Amino acid sequence: MSVQRVYVAFRKTIAIGSDWLCAQTPCAIKSRNETTVVVEPFNKSRKIKVPVEVYDAEACVLEQDDHFVYNASYPGGRIPKEEFDVKPIIGKSELLAPFIENKNFCLLLEKAYQDSYTGKGNTFCINIKEYLAYLANPVVSKLERIGDPVFNRTSRHTPPIPSGFERKDFEACLSFPAPIGIRAEDFAFPSEQNKILVQLLTQIFNCKNAPICPEEIRAKLNIVVEPDSHRCEWCGEVMNIVELNQDYCSKEHSVNFCHRDPKLGTKEHNVYIGHCSCNREQGGYSEIERVMQIAKLAKYNTEYKKILLEMLQ
Ligand SMILES: [Zn+2]
Repeated sequence: MSVQRVYVAFRKTIAIGSDWLCAQTPCAIKSRNETTVVVEPFNKSRKIKVPVEVYDAEACVLEQDDHFVYNASYPGGRIPKEEFDVKPIIGKSELLAPFIENKNFCLLLEKAYQDSYTGKGNTFCINIKEYLAYLANPVVSKLERIGDPVFNRTSRHTPPIPSGFERKDFEACLSFPAPIGIRAEDFAFPSEQNKILVQLLTQIFNCKNAPICPEEIRAKLNIVVEPDSHRCEWCGEVMNIVELNQDYCSKEHSVNFCHRDPKLGTKEHNVYIGHCSCNREQGGYSEIERVMQIAKLAKYNTEYKKILLEMLQ
């Protein structure tokens, strides 16, 4: 019989060496001796040694059953147990290796990889050095705004911060001024992150002029290659990797990754490789919002209605 793992979460974010141990992240207990408890946080690939006195003061054991670990900070208040064992489906260097000569294509793959596994950046997040200085001398001038609840680029299965969470809530929380999570729209469980990467790579390899997807990558990721089949959702044109690469190197490269509903963020079935200009045209609205706007505009205008009906023939 296998021994059931014990999971704990820390009441507040703690700085340990060069690592942040994020508040409320479930951590599997790996070992304990008189001085140290070794934990493996859900959102990290490495273990962290926590001094016993810190552990005893801040760790709370999480409830679990056969299928879930319960934690109010996660969507639905629980984490499916199998998610603790899901690792990235492929390593970044393994993915890039066959294309190392093709710099632009590697940049595109790197961006797909980063969007799949890492939350967006946040330059307002305090660093550990500044945080320790604050703990030693917790005085800030009234005008200074220290720290931010959102981590700078961390894994997408770090606890999501509720959308209504305000600055005053952050200043009142135990972790302040250390970060406590990621933006809610950046959140995805590890299995969904793998699906997002596979979807993005499938689209990339199905663009016109895309390099051939090597057999080992195709088989490992179960990518279905149908050359010249990937279209921009907005304009319906087949995407050309040559144009994409040119756009990627421009200042606005990040908008090559278009969202069907920008408010949902990079979720499965919500992100696709499309044109920068098309993404700009869609703006902050979802596709369905745009459809409803046009339908409303055409409904009581016979001329527009006629144009629209002819276009849809
Ligand atoms: Zn387009």
